[in-house]
Amino acid sequence: MKYYSTNRQSPPATLEDAVIRSLAADSGLYMPERIPVLGSDIIRSLKDRPFHETASIVAESFFGDDIDAGALAAIVGDTLSFDTPVVHVHDSVYSLELFHGPTLAFKDVGARFMARLLGYFIRRKGIGQTVNVLVATSGDTGSAVASGFLGIEGIRVFVLYPGGKVSPIQEYQFTTLGQNITALEIDGTFDDCQTLVKAAFADRELNSRMRLTSANSINVARLIPQSFYYFDAYAQLDRAGKAGELIVCVPSGNFGNLSAGLFAAQMGLPVKRFIAANNRNDVFLTYLKTGKYEPRPSVATIANAMDVGNPSNFARILDMFGHDHGAIARSIAGYRYDDGEIARTMRLVFRNFNYLLDPHGACGYRALADFGLQPHQTGLFLETAHPAKFKETADRILNVNIDIPDKLQAFMKGKKQSIPLSSDFGKFRDFLVENA
Ligand SMILES: *Cc1c(COP(=O)(O)O)cnc(C)c1O
Repeated sequence: MKYYSTNRQSPPATLEDAVIRSLAADSGLYMPERIPVLGSDIIRSLKDRPFHETASIVAESFFGDDIDAGALAAIVGDTLSFDTPVVHVHDSVYSLELFHGPTLAFKDVGARFMARLLGYFIRRKGIGQTVNVLVATSGDTGSAVASGFLGIEGIRVFVLYPGGKVSPIQEYQFTTLGQNITALEIDGTFDDCQTLVKAAFADRELNSRMRLTSANSINVARLIPQSFYYFDAYAQLDRAGKAGELIVCVPSGNFGNLSAGLFAAQMGLPVKRFIAANNRNDVFLTYLKTGKYEPRPSVATIANAMDVGNPSNFARILDMFGHDHGAIARSIAGYRYDDGEIARTMRLVFRNFNYLLDPHGACGYRALADFGLQPHQTGLFLETAHPAKFKETADRILNVNIDIPDKLQAFMKGKKQSIPLSSDFGKFRDFLVENA
């Protein structure tokens, strides 16, 4: 299958090229030329399948023409070596816990898949030159990518993060690994980090000197695997007899997770409506209401992985719906919450239902509550991170002392190593030229 650019000024690319380049030469995002559709018999059969089998069916339908079946099955199996359970919270509300992977957030799925797929292409193509992965992070992407790519031959990773704006636990996760992972502490915001990465890709001369790629959700190899767990969540709810009319709520920042859900729906997954839950960074909600997309600088919130003022996957959503604002607004509802509302929601759900939400999942839960489920509907929100990843915040809000899972404690024994850089592109460029 070929991948076209959302800007349509570059020729379609093979999967291999789309993964290695990340962004098309015209700065558009790659999209699969067609979205495969799974028949209703397959959808019905999912409830009898384990996750890795469901994921293999989805992976095969996208990537089957481009990767040999054995290699693809191994990549899927390696990617999903952890659980993503659907947990009942109360009434018809369920939480899809995507935080049981190595860095306790949903991005482990896409990052691990992409690392293995890129490693496979590098071996297959016999690329002699190192592939440099640039990743901008507001916290969770950096940890997932660092963990997913650690030790993969032929790949070097540069994690750009906004100094002082990620939680200490997050910072440990990508500054302590060493090996092929280098952390760059940028004096600026997440948007500044993302701008630096985009500028590096747009710099022809730089790209002729070194091989650069991205592991942000702009990369199709990170994005598409995120559709796996929507299918599996459906299967779990179907098993419980709760998949009749499904409303799926996605805490959103760069809108990669939601885009993957929209892919799943276009592939035939029966989802009645999606909800995009935002924190105060609500350019998407404004778009839903007005039809105008007005990116603006991000503001810092306690759900910091969603502090995005110009979501990169917005271009994909527009493209998927043929730029039809009405169609987008019919498929996706939007809500936004400030820090006070997020904290209140965390307290309410902990007191009443004894369920620990992290600040991102709290936006998801709350949006589902405000949406107002009909009696015959089931609400599913994505719990995108383990609350211990935001321990300082969650402890303070809930007046508890959350246990830090062993996986996280292991990171905290490491020594922080990062390189401070200004948000000036010239300096970043010089650094790459000298160090990559
Ligand atoms: C990245 C992240 C989000 C936002 O996901 P997008 O795909 O960028 O919309 C939400 N919650 C957590 C915990 C995250 O790490």
